Amino acid sequence: MQKEDFVDRVTIFVKAGDGGNGAVSFRREKYVPKGGPDGGDGGDGGFVILRANANLSTLLNFKHQKKFVAENGQHGRGKKQSGRSGRDLIIDVPVGTVVKDAETGRIIADLDRHGMMVCVARGGKGGRGNTHFASSTFRVPRIAEHGDEGESMWLVLELKLLADAGLIGFPNVGKSSLITAMSNARPKIADYPFTTLVPNLGVVKIDEENEYVLADIPGLIEGASEGTGLGNLFLRHIERCSVLVHVVDISSTDGRDFIADYDVIIKELEKYSDYVAKKPQILVANKIDLLEKDELNRRIIALENHSGQEVYPVSALLRINIENLKKKIYELIGKSKLHFQIQAPPAFEKPKPVRKRLEMKFDFEITKIENGFEIGGKHIEAWLNRYPLNQKDAMARFLEVLERNGLSERLKEMGAKDGDTVWIDGYSFEYKE
Ligand code: GDP
Ligand code: MG
Repeated sequence: MQKEDFVDRVTIFVKAGDGGNGAVSFRREKYVPKGGPDGGDGGDGGFVILRANANLSTLLNFKHQKKFVAENGQHGRGKKQSGRSGRDLIIDVPVGTVVKDAETGRIIADLDRHGMMVCVARGGKGGRGNTHFASSTFRVPRIAEHGDEGESMWLVLELKLLADAGLIGFPNVGKSSLITAMSNARPKIADYPFTTLVPNLGVVKIDEENEYVLADIPGLIEGASEGTGLGNLFLRHIERCSVLVHVVDISSTDGRDFIADYDVIIKELEKYSDYVAKKPQILVANKIDLLEKDELNRRIIALENHSGQEVYPVSALLRINIENLKKKIYELIGKSKLHFQIQAPPAFEKPKPVRKRLEMKFDFEITKIENGFEIGGKHIEAWLNRYPLNQKDAMARFLEVLERNGLSERLKEMGAKDGDTVWIDGYSFEYKE
């Protein structure tokens, strides 16, 4: 089965902004060669947030854009100027989107209410400027923090809701013809019942600003004939529409009985689930052009009496009453959407930016290399990410921390001799016994 027609599952990559770096800077004053430190802090990185929006109906947009990156925080500057924080990136998705971790399959959120938000990647915390490092004994701190990296991950978005409204009914009643008459969709139309296996989606325009998504749902018989098992697929699609448009062929050209057809479909819905059977429905009588006026009226009244529902007579072929039907469906969708909107979304609390904790006591690796020793390991990397060694006082401070964690003893154990070279992150030091 081809799947391009309805995008209900996409994989995207999200990356939050990195924190900006703190600045190393000193006040400039006349006659004072080095004023006090005045390096500002880096701004926090922007977050990536998903938000459910009842005005969207598909994940189609994500077919084209798959990578979403929030803004980085800006670096701090002199005169204690903090860097601006990165803007959060808010991505709108349709109500009914389930968000999963692509690697583990874990469900992160089920965005089933309009306005509901979830943070999927936290921005990195900005680094502190050198003003924070000054003390009475340390007046010229040539050290500031680098910002933390923003989180990133691959997400799977799955849409439970396929369309605002779905056309259902027996094969050949004219569903494909109707979606053609009502929307921009151009499905195959034929006299045989195997035309529609995958839902066709079409956008129905009411006016410049208002539109909705209509789905031409593959028929019960069609799905079953393909061996999909009692039309389960058909029913799964139906579950994902807010409104059902039940179409019958009022002319009964196939020698079918429109009343019996109506009953079969309704029974099938009830068998599947109460939830589906109770969805808002519109009953449409198609192919009215094939009947005399009196006969048509007689049948419509019969169907109304039988179903207890108002019947909308149309001709998809001759485009009779189509504009009216478009508006009727639109109104019913509006009412069903209120369900999403009435309930306030759960409160959203933005989490704190990422700030990795640096261990003061840690283990590291020493590797013997040709011309000396190399120090490495994940704790070392974490330290260097925050305090890069190109800052003079960061270097001194880091060596002190390493020393406290037993650097010299470990080197000695490994056979280091006076004058040997020790490498850390591309910087070399001389080992002294
Ligand atoms: P589907 O199987 O429900 O999608 O039905 P189709 O849209 O493929 O239509 C089945 C047949 O009925 C086609 O030959 C259509 O041309 C015809 N048809 C659809 N709507 C009308 C209508 O309003 N009037 C008439 N006379 N024929 C129609
Ligand atoms: Mg069809």
